[in-house]
Amino acid sequence: MAWHSSGATNMDLIHNLERNGLIESERVKKAMLGVDRAHYAPAAPYEDSPQSIGHFATISAPHMHASACESLLPFLKPGSKVLDIGSGSGYLTHVLAELVKPDGTVIGIDHIQPLVDLAEKNMAKSEEGRDLLKSGAVKFIKADGRLGWKESAPYDAIHVGAAAAEHHKELTDQLKAPGRLFVPVAEGWMQHIYVIDKKEDGSVEKKKMYGVQYVPLTDAPKT
Ligand code: SAH
Repeated sequence: MAWHSSGATNMDLIHNLERNGLIESERVKKAMLGVDRAHYAPAAPYEDSPQSIGHFATISAPHMHASACESLLPFLKPGSKVLDIGSGSGYLTHVLAELVKPDGTVIGIDHIQPLVDLAEKNMAKSEEGRDLLKSGAVKFIKADGRLGWKESAPYDAIHVGAAAAEHHKELTDQLKAPGRLFVPVAEGWMQHIYVIDKKEDGSVEKKKMYGVQYVPLTDAPKT
């Protein structure tokens, strides 16, 4: 059970996620061990639940971060190019960057400038994080993620951390062939994770996975 994975330390949490079958691979385990959630989740960093980060956003629960990484893993190789839409706290952006080292790049997009700043600030708390920012391996950008980020496309993997109201064609268009998109999609009152593969021949295959609860992928709030 997801909620039973909480721990007293980062290492505890990751080991519990592994014991409960939520982390399946050594690579995801190593990457998550390499990023201290306390740098990204202000209160209760090692609890397996979402936490508020302000601006009506949450850092997703660790089991969802683990599931996203496991799902995208075949497309996260040294040198891969990744887009993380709705980067929020920046935690997953950092873990994804660990998974595409060396020579990989991850672009984190959020439509709220204070969250773009927060992600950068969080990442700068560790030496590895500072190196990722300095080398350009990680960039945080303010933009509407529903349009993807055409400037750096195509991507091996795209992760969406907020529930889309529809299947945005822009996102599959910006995938490499092959490439994979992990996206929560709202359907009425329900949300489901979709894993969408663009095959080598350019054809697109959508797989509906499990039910989830994410904050919505919306218009930017009026300021
Ligand atoms: N992966 C992040 C999730 C943050 S919550 C984490 O675990 O920390 C979802 C994020 O999506 C919020 O930060 C919110 O500001 C952002 N968001 C919502 N709609 C968006 C849009 N249209 N474009 C870009 N970001 C968006």
